[in-house]
Amino acid sequence: MGTTIQINGAIEDAISGESGARVFRNSQGTDMLSGYASVPISGWGVVAQRPLKVTLAQLNDTILSVLKSTLPVTILTLLLILVFGSKIAKPLWKLAVGVRAMDRYAQSNVQKIDAWYFEAEHLKQAIVSGTELVGKTIQEYDLDRQKDPLTQLLNRRGMLAKLEYFQSIKKPYSVIALDIDHFKRINDKFGHDVGDQVIRTLAELMQSSAREQDVICRTGGEEFAIFLPNVDIGQAVSIAERLRVDVSNHLFPPVAKVNISLGVAYSSRTECNFHQVLKNADKALYDAKHGGRNRTAVTDCEAA
Ligand code: GH3
Ligand code: MG
Ligand code: MG
Repeated sequence: MGTTIQINGAIEDAISGESGARVFRNSQGTDMLSGYASVPISGWGVVAQRPLKVTLAQLNDTILSVLKSTLPVTILTLLLILVFGSKIAKPLWKLAVGVRAMDRYAQSNVQKIDAWYFEAEHLKQAIVSGTELVGKTIQEYDLDRQKDPLTQLLNRRGMLAKLEYFQSIKKPYSVIALDIDHFKRINDKFGHDVGDQVIRTLAELMQSSAREQDVICRTGGEEFAIFLPNVDIGQAVSIAERLRVDVSNHLFPPVAKVNISLGVAYSSRTECNFHQVLKNADKALYDAKHGGRNRTAVTDCEAA
């Protein structure tokens, strides 16, 4: 339009033979976007410029319309990611909660988790078999801790657990405490291994004459206790006497004859604590020893 304009950076660059684009503010204070190039043959420079705002307005319109058209797809995609993400994470999260609990209920809870994809199902199975194994090992360990290795009978710990059980179900029971007479002499004369064999054989004799519900324990070195559920004091004394006679008639090579002394106690009433019943049986055993050994003595709950 024949207007003379002030020299600006773009014109300077074009005159000095450079080409490019830049933004600058013109003499009216408007930001301009300009592209420039030199024309070496003529020594001219060509500068094209346009207000930045006008140029960007078109661009903004384009961006806005692109955004508008892609927004529903973007939102849908995000929603799908959210839904699938939480669906994938859900079984993993539940498995984590189940494993953290690791109690008796955790295993069945983990079993119920819907691990709908391969990896989660795999993880679930690994957790289930892992907890099963841990539970089994603990159970075996617990049982081992309650067993006497020499005779495979319950030890004192196992005996107390059984007694607690009897007490909890309020079942009347009798207890026979028994001890080998002069066992020290057997050890001294025949050696410790023979002594061990005597203990094993006595355990077998007791087991062979016991009912399924009876509980036999090795409570100490050559001391045992037999719990007879639903057996009254009279029956318990008969059982103790029969065992005493059986043992005294049995041959224990190379020792030959072995005798035992027995103490019997009875718990008919729930208030008679199992510690008290045991104490009564021990007291009766003490009486049997002091009465001359190879015999049975009795104390009942009331006598304590
Ligand atoms: P009493 O008639 O008064 O019961 O006399 P005792 O000799 O049987 O009793 P005492 O308590 O004096 O001796 C028990 C012995 O049992 C002492 C101990 O060395 C022995 N003993 C304890 N445990 C075992 C074991 O596992 N194996 C063997 N071989 N001997 C044991
Ligand atoms: Mg003894
Ligand atoms: Mg003893």
